[in-house]
Amino acid sequence: MKVDYHIHTHLCGHASGSMKEYVESAIEKGCSRIGFADHLPMLFRDDPSLSMSEDELPRYIDEVLGLRERYKKDLGILLGIEADYHPSTLEKVAEMIDAYPFDYVIGSVHVLGDWIFDDPGEMDRYDEVDINELYIKYFRTQESMVDTGLFNVVSHPDLVKKFNIRATIDLKPYYRDLLGKIRDAGMCYEINTAGLRWQVREMYPEPDFVRIGAELGVPVTYGSDAHRPEDVGRDLDEAFKLMRKSGYLELACFSQRNIRFDPLPDSE
Ligand code: ZN
Ligand code: FE
Ligand code: FE
Ligand code: ZN
Repeated sequence: MKVDYHIHTHLCGHASGSMKEYVESAIEKGCSRIGFADHLPMLFRDDPSLSMSEDELPRYIDEVLGLRERYKKDLGILLGIEADYHPSTLEKVAEMIDAYPFDYVIGSVHVLGDWIFDDPGEMDRYDEVDINELYIKYFRTQESMVDTGLFNVVSHPDLVKKFNIRATIDLKPYYRDLLGKIRDAGMCYEINTAGLRWQVREMYPEPDFVRIGAELGVPVTYGSDAHRPEDVGRDLDEAFKLMRKSGYLELACFSQRNIRFDPLPDSE
């Protein structure tokens, strides 16, 4: 089984390739199901290199639904979206989510206060903060995101390690708190392989998080976070390996906002 539920498109302003090229890359790689999950218009900052604009959102929906119809014999295509969680934009985000027939909504914390902490252009701000406090704030913010009930998937749950600037405290209690909330909300979290392509050189989240997730019975899904067609399905084997090693037997995804499970394939 080859899938990928976190795929971006050129509409976000920092990804390459047409949507059709992502679909064809998926088919070439033998995927049976994928989901587009481009960035929902980022209301927090009006910047065409961060996300599509509000005007472009209907076009994104139309294009995904058109491709779903056109390729239905070869590939299942889900309509997802990656929405930023920021308390100041919550109401408007809820409105946009409600307006379209999304299969699932990925919730992401990329911003704390006014800091886009995963933007390489804002990296100098790591020097100005206490790193342990930053990690705590980040995990607590994800808990607040889960509490809103707006989202289905928690993406890259330890994105704050992206530049390999690490906390020195034990993070496991924070993992447990967040994972318990994800489970109780009927959501899942994502193993996101994009971390392998950044300074941290490991998947999000780290193995301890996945192990505790399996122990607590929290559903898990997979996404490459592809911003180029060739990255569709990237490092899926690594992600499946970590899932199996941690005790997972099933992979979650969402269709029409309902969770469903596929058996995790045995190791090849
Ligand atoms: Zn992006
Ligand atoms: Fe993200
Ligand atoms: Fe993404
Ligand atoms: Zn992402």
